[in-house]
Amino acid sequence: MARLIIISAPSGAGKSTLVRYLLAQGLNMRFSISATSRLPRGEEKNGVEYYFLSPEEFRERINNDEFLEYEEVYPNRYYGTLKSEVDRILKEGSNVIFDVDCVGGLNIKKIYGDQALSIFIMPPSIEVLRERLEKRGTDSPKVIEGRLAKAEYEISFSPLFDVTICNDDYERARAEILKIVTDFIQQ
Ligand code: ADP
Ligand code: 5GP
Repeated sequence: MARLIIISAPSGAGKSTLVRYLLAQGLNMRFSISATSRLPRGEEKNGVEYYFLSPEEFRERINNDEFLEYEEVYPNRYYGTLKSEVDRILKEGSNVIFDVDCVGGLNIKKIYGDQALSIFIMPPSIEVLRERLEKRGTDSPKVIEGRLAKAEYEISFSPLFDVTICNDDYERARAEILKIVTDFIQQ
């Protein structure tokens, strides 16, 4: 049976880095491309990192009941998982990996139960999170402040996840996540 791997974390904790690593490990795993109403960042392309929609298009799809879950993560900035995206991947017999915020991650876990594993990526500290976001250089200082303010709130959800992995040392964290995900997929 195909499995679902849910990765949630405060922004900057290293989700995308760990998701990219897992996708390259030959685990028959596909990334669930979310829809968002935010603008593309850097080199992001429509249909690769996200399906980029206008807020109006996003709301229309909400009204059509096309989302498995969605959140207004920041004011007037929607993020959501399209039912069609997950169905397509499961139908081809592949495992699905999600990069979603904490509330979205817990909602997906509730829908899929034992077929899904929810993983929370914990940053070593808020200070380290700030350093990584500044170093990544993709967000304005104002956006970084917003992400940090939200981080503490998101960390409060960590006990509700199946597993928590601290992304302190990258080599160690990726070895840990690979073992946990491989065991879950093969069980
Ligand atoms: P997220 O997807 O959670 O927002 P990213 O994967 O983009 O986070 O990581 C944020 C930044 O931190 C990136 O520049 C990434 O290269 C770096 N990073 C990720 N993991 C580590 C780590 N363990 N140690 C140091 N830097 C890291
Ligand atoms: P970013 O703007 O950095 O790409 O993402 C901001 C936040 O939105 C991250 O916490 C990310 O995990 C979350 N996110 C991305 N896609 C989805 C989704 O489909 N659903 C939900 N609930 N959150 C998402």
